[in-house]
Amino acid sequence: MARKYETKGKQLVSRVIPVENFDLVIFGGTGDLARRKILPGLFRRFRSGQMPDDARIIGAARSDLDSKGYRAEIKSALEEFVSSKYRPEDAVDGFLERIEYVAIDAMGDGGWKELKSLMRDGVVKAFYFSVAPSLFGPLAERLHDFKIADRDSRIVVEKPFGRDLESARALNKTLRDSFEEDQIYRIDHYLGKETVQNLMAVRFGNMLFEPLWNSKYVDHVQITVAEEVGVDGRGAYYDRSGAMRDMVQNHLMQLLCLIAMEPPSRFDPDAVRDEKLKVIRALDPVASRDIVRGQYTSSKKGEGYLEQVENPDSQTESFIAMKLHISNWRWSGVPFFLRTGKRLKARQSEISIIFKDTPHSIFGDDSGGSQNVLAIRLQPNEGITLSVTIKEPGPGGMRLVDVPLDMTFADALGPDAEDVPDAYERLIMDVIRGNQTLFMRGDEVEAAWAWTDPLIEGWASKGDRPSPYDVGSTGPEEAAILLHRDGRRWREIRS
Ligand code: NAD
Repeated sequence: MARKYETKGKQLVSRVIPVENFDLVIFGGTGDLARRKILPGLFRRFRSGQMPDDARIIGAARSDLDSKGYRAEIKSALEEFVSSKYRPEDAVDGFLERIEYVAIDAMGDGGWKELKSLMRDGVVKAFYFSVAPSLFGPLAERLHDFKIADRDSRIVVEKPFGRDLESARALNKTLRDSFEEDQIYRIDHYLGKETVQNLMAVRFGNMLFEPLWNSKYVDHVQITVAEEVGVDGRGAYYDRSGAMRDMVQNHLMQLLCLIAMEPPSRFDPDAVRDEKLKVIRALDPVASRDIVRGQYTSSKKGEGYLEQVENPDSQTESFIAMKLHISNWRWSGVPFFLRTGKRLKARQSEISIIFKDTPHSIFGDDSGGSQNVLAIRLQPNEGITLSVTIKEPGPGGMRLVDVPLDMTFADALGPDAEDVPDAYERLIMDVIRGNQTLFMRGDEVEAAWAWTDPLIEGWASKGDRPSPYDVGSTGPEEAAILLHRDGRRWREIRS
């Protein structure tokens, strides 16, 4: 069951309900993701009382360590990634007691018998593949061949899930040779964010919005995922992917689906995922004039993309903006503008629903006020804002202003805001509960690649070159023109 919030005065107070007992194996348990996200997240779940006393975490990686050495590594990871206020010593000690380690070779036979001997019967067995994608298949096969996993076991698969339709199909097939679809949890951490789930609560838990959620009342939708960081140490991987594969095919597509989908009949995994799949299948092909690709170039704020990757003539995009249409009754004629990029002015992720103007202004055209906007902020300062038009206070006629009705979670949750579960810990607890609602199904991933592939192939065959944009800017000028053309503009990226 989920963590619950109750109200205390104006603030929401959380209540935590423990999950079933489990053995969680983290393949790649010494890697960057495990140290930064997975283990700190599990520690917070342990400290909150959500992990049963007897639950166990088994790190499995290539490093030649024993459990004692691994615990020391985890301790230092917690010191680095959990603030001291939330890291009391007794909680750290209690957490470390639940940790074991096996040195394992995903491509060979070393370590597998030892892992098998560590696993217990009668508890949920989950296996997190936090390793390079080339190891996903070999891990699944070995878990099956060594009879470590059973019919109730779950595997968690990191991104990227393939690099095109063909490789995603092949990976789905390999995983399904050893596991059923209901055992495979393809992670997209955007779906684990508090606000993203709140988007569904806002849409389907209130009478207020859903009647307006269609082409009659919505002018357009914007999804922005702006990053301040560049490719940094990931240049080799990123240069083979680009923004389309790394961000649009998965994260932005998932957000788009949640906004555009029809109300599922129940909040259950297949009901939700069936509706998301219909959205992807209803996407129109995108005309090349509706896509802008960009690549950051050096400015006072830092060095350019080409200085950070090996190929000095790379045509990989670090920015993409596009205008999409969904061919169905609800969204006919409503453009969805997507934009994501690296080394932009600020880190900001936001989904905005921009409603149409009132059909007639009784206050006169120059009275002020503009369209209503429902903005869902994913980062920073997770929260939801609805901008509404009211009268400017004071005498002197009917002048209108826009004011935000603001629900910033940090304010609503008060001093415990920093302690709200982050995406990874929430999703891992869902794996233990056996709830796949916030994980991508195999057919969804394939449908997203089927839509993405022709666009990527088109750029390659035409030798399309990305437009330059300065480090620290809001992206190439062409991205602004994409909206200006229609008399619209992007919402501001604020630093
Ligand atoms: P990493 O390179 O830091 O760690 C890789 C881990 O895999 C190490 O623990 C290593 O010991 C283990 N490993 C390598 N070869 C092995 C083998 N033959 N047998 C057993 N273990 C082996 O990688 P990472 O950054 O932690 O990323 C892990 C996965 O998570 C990747 O699929 C990546 O795409 C995905 N991911 C990472 C991030 C991130 O922020 N780091 C974000 C999103 C997705």
